[in-house]
Amino acid sequence: MFQDKPLPVVISADIHGIVPSQISDQAINVLQRLHDSGYAAYLVGGCVRDLLRGLRPKDFDVVTDAKPEQVRALFRNARIIGRRFRIVHVIFGHDLIEVTTFRGGDDDALRRTDEGRILRDNVFGTLDEDVWRRDFACNALYYNFANAEIVDYVRGWQDVETGHLRVIGDPATRYREDPVRMLRAARFMAKLGFTLTAETAAAIHECRPLLKDIASARLFDESIKIFQGGYAWAAFLQLRELNLLGFLFAGLDDLLNRDYDRVAALIEKILKATDERIALQLPVNPAFLLAGLLWADLSRRREPWLHQRVAADTALELACDEVLEATVRQVAIPRRLTELMRVIWVLQPALEREASGMALGVPLNDLTDAQKHLLAHAWFRAGLDFLCLRGEIGEISPAACAFWRQYAPARDKDTGEAVPTHLPEDFGKHGQIARRPRQRNRRPNRSRGAAN
Ligand code: ATP
Ligand code: MG
Repeated sequence: MFQDKPLPVVISADIHGIVPSQISDQAINVLQRLHDSGYAAYLVGGCVRDLLRGLRPKDFDVVTDAKPEQVRALFRNARIIGRRFRIVHVIFGHDLIEVTTFRGGDDDALRRTDEGRILRDNVFGTLDEDVWRRDFACNALYYNFANAEIVDYVRGWQDVETGHLRVIGDPATRYREDPVRMLRAARFMAKLGFTLTAETAAAIHECRPLLKDIASARLFDESIKIFQGGYAWAAFLQLRELNLLGFLFAGLDDLLNRDYDRVAALIEKILKATDERIALQLPVNPAFLLAGLLWADLSRRREPWLHQRVAADTALELACDEVLEATVRQVAIPRRLTELMRVIWVLQPALEREASGMALGVPLNDLTDAQKHLLAHAWFRAGLDFLCLRGEIGEISPAACAFWRQYAPARDKDTGEAVPTHLPEDFGKHGQIARRPRQRNRRPNRSRGAAN
């Protein structure tokens, strides 16, 4: 496929400036062990790129010529994962280092679909073969643990210096191999502020429909990387710019096309709040931001039920079912998160209703049972944070937020800010929410214009 492989540029430590103290102890541990055992040991990908840009890498990826079984044999705390790409996770408590074996260059050995999508890639090879499998040149720099030199076959160093994202090889072929690379392009543009080169951008136009065939579980993982990386708002704008958002959230994209300012207002608030919390190293939970992303779609879907004079609460429940069903088909949001999204949504009308007409300063004890019940709800704060953001964009009166805040002031007093989305780290992991019993035949028949 790539006939005329250029010779690599080698960049020495005094030029690139990366020092071992910038590399995590766990990564050093893995690199050292591989090296001592006679294997090649390199850092590769985002960590090298980020260190060169003066950013703190999210994770350190190691690449070696040791086969997965050989890597596993070196570490007690290692396991082999994956089918499409077999890799080794070396586990250190809550952290892990991903160790990949160089992929081979024999194109015929790859299992592909008719469209050219790679299904399996477990043929091992050498560094100068592995490099052509990577997505962008800036992600294909190899830091050699043995001598601290960076090996660059693809002018990645230059791209990092000039802030460019350039697909390695022919962009259309590479997007066909793995359409998720287009989403990664949007993510890296947002994260790094890089610009796509003309060819890298142009091929997205013809290849974007291929994202329809990507498994919903993979699109969920990718969405989390996009929206929980600390640059969610910028990434959202890039996804729109590249016309990719619809492949994750079709209903939302459609609404944005019709009424951008109204629909984007809440999303901007929520994504920026998420980014701020990540910058402050505070926990965030995807349920909150997903609830925000889908709120407009939910509200739209509630309308027809209300027109049929279905009771408001039922209309909301039905719209929840619809929006979650439609979204999960595209992006496989796990049940523990959809349950929480539903709770946040269902709390909204309840919080509005119970705050309506209430004066400030009512002592806690004088609240109604319904109000006390809401205050005691396990996810009251998440619901309230959401309500307050809706108040901030003028969707509802800010008085409702002010009323509830008296009894539940915003947290994070130490930062001096009322930062929303403050949810515990284990938010939703332990099934604290009693699942609403599903009723059979709950859905009224639209054509008969059911009323209740
Ligand atoms: P970050 O960790 O900052 O999100 P990253 O570049 O490290 O960014 P990862 O998803 O951790 O991204 O992947 C590590 C490396 O593996 C990438 O830098 C790239 O070289 C390679 N890679 C990852 N996904 C793909 C892909 N879909 N196609 C080709 N190469 C990929
Ligand atoms: Mg990485």
